Amino acid sequence: MKVKHLFVMSMLATVGCNPAQQHVSDSYDEYPVYKGDWEEMSYSPSATRFALWAPTAEAVNLLLYEAGQGGEAVRTLSMEAATDGMWNASVDGNLKGKFYTFNVKVDGEWLGDTPGVMAKAVGVNGDRAAVVDLRDTNPAGWEADVRPPLNSFADIVLYEMHHRDFSMDLNSGISHRGKFLALTETGTRSAAGDRTGIDHLKELGVTHVHILPSFDYSSVDESRPDSAQYNWGYDPKNYNVPEGSYSTDPYTPETRIREFKQMVMALHRAGIRVVMDVVYNHTAVTEGGNFERTVPGYFYRQTPEGTFANASACGNETASERPMVRKFIVESVKYWAEEYHVDGFRFDLMGIHDIATMKAVRQALDEVDPSIYIYGEGWAASAPQLPTDSLAMKANTWRMPGIAAFSDEFRDSLRGPFGHDEQGAFVIGRKGHKAGVRFGIAGGVEYAQVEEDPAHPAFWAGQPTQFISYVSCHDDLCLADRLKVTQPEASPERLKALQKLALTAVLTSQGVPFIFAGDEVMRDKQGVANSFRSPDSINTIRWQLKHDNRDLFDYVSGLIALRKAHPAFHFGDAEKVRSFLRFIPAADEEVVAFKLTGKPQGETWDEIIVVLNPLSKPTTVKVHQGDYRIACMDGRVSADPARPLATMTGGVLTVPACSALIAYR
Ligand code: CA
Repeated sequence: MKVKHLFVMSMLATVGCNPAQQHVSDSYDEYPVYKGDWEEMSYSPSATRFALWAPTAEAVNLLLYEAGQGGEAVRTLSMEAATDGMWNASVDGNLKGKFYTFNVKVDGEWLGDTPGVMAKAVGVNGDRAAVVDLRDTNPAGWEADVRPPLNSFADIVLYEMHHRDFSMDLNSGISHRGKFLALTETGTRSAAGDRTGIDHLKELGVTHVHILPSFDYSSVDESRPDSAQYNWGYDPKNYNVPEGSYSTDPYTPETRIREFKQMVMALHRAGIRVVMDVVYNHTAVTEGGNFERTVPGYFYRQTPEGTFANASACGNETASERPMVRKFIVESVKYWAEEYHVDGFRFDLMGIHDIATMKAVRQALDEVDPSIYIYGEGWAASAPQLPTDSLAMKANTWRMPGIAAFSDEFRDSLRGPFGHDEQGAFVIGRKGHKAGVRFGIAGGVEYAQVEEDPAHPAFWAGQPTQFISYVSCHDDLCLADRLKVTQPEASPERLKALQKLALTAVLTSQGVPFIFAGDEVMRDKQGVANSFRSPDSINTIRWQLKHDNRDLFDYVSGLIALRKAHPAFHFGDAEKVRSFLRFIPAADEEVVAFKLTGKPQGETWDEIIVVLNPLSKPTTVKVHQGDYRIACMDGRVSADPARPLATMTGGVLTVPACSALIAYR
């Protein structure tokens, strides 16, 4: 795309002189690229250095404030143009505790205060950046914090949660409800005596907690912590600062940083890794936002008509292919991994980003720790401004080793299509979804038996660890609501049986299983699909549900334990999936059954048979003669090999109606 924009040629912008001459570039591609560490504020007790990348600026002011909001600037300094589009200022004295903004003049116009694009500490609501010494933000013991061990991405079990959903219920037994610190409390119990909070996660057995957007976002007013406010947080404001409303004090910049670290440290101590949901594909505000107030136009793609492109459906789409936007994303992700010890990243609308950027993210994180996991939504809300084959779309996943994408095919084959809530699929016994379920069981990798059915989805995962297996997430109806809508006449017992069956498919898939918080206790959202700003009363997990649905919780935690104990459930390698997974026929056509072997891969069982029976009648599967022990049957699981649920002999396994069977010998 070609755009007309003024920018200052870096060669003219030498330190100490404000260049009089300006040159017109006809392309953002020609903007100077800054090669160093992109630090907008570097604190020391004797002086603080400020820097802003603003290549089109003709002047940049630095404003210093006493507070994060209100009051006039106590000092305004003119920054000096340096090379590569940077503007610098150094202020003597100890500025710790002060706040600052930049104001950039482009084309004769002052664009207005901004904390910059790289602020790492801010005041309330993120309007002003803050001078902090990050070392002050480390909680006691932080230096000893280490990522829990992870041998392979194949070992991951993801659990997606929103801070408020997880702990706002008065019955959570948690003190810091809705805050980062909720995930530091141990020993919490519901009134019925069930474990909640971090203890619940340990009891469930998940390996990773995926927290919904926890960087500073716009929609919640941090100055009104006691008013009823809820948002998922997909409206980024400051990418490199934790969200203030999840801290106990959004006014003191160090607090949110420290409390985020406390959360990470507590989860790590519990053996759980932390995934951040990152939203680099768009910003909440376009005009007047931090990007536009710093380098107008540069951070966003434009349509051929010159307007802001909008593949996010949120008003803009970022231009990851431009060198400084790519650098921005890479440095931001690296920062969270290094400063906050974050262990994984879930990219919102990853399909808006170009493949080269995602590969650069992978490479940068490999340098920090190759066990950091990356996955994302391999789609966009509408077509981005780049050719599809250059984008991190799901279909291109196989070209991005070490990066995974959500499988909407598996999800929809299990529960029904997006946008048709009343329509069910495999788990309610609807015909025509077997190929999609088999596709999901095989982790989306090329697989001959899946290919036999012409209805199979296109393969897109190079490895099963690039395939996120799920049936529900924060978006859309959660599983219990969806099942209720598709089966309005069903009894609570049947709905729970369907819930178990759907989650069995997810947890026996060769892909990486992903559970939406609360699905393990029949959590519902009272039928609200797009609950992004619904009140807590809709979104909160009611912890009494854990008591009421104890059998479901035990079932899901049992399946997780079984999966962890048996390599055959997660080979993590496409060749091994092709070698050791076989789909087998059942007496009824719409049943999915498969056999796992894998002794050479360390599997202790000779053979595992899994049957997913969505029919309202029992079905049978022919197997070898001999004894089969039962690890899962009719809504119950025993992960303890010394205590199988039952034994079946005679070469035929019988699977009760609407349930899953896992048998082994
Ligand atoms: Ca905020």
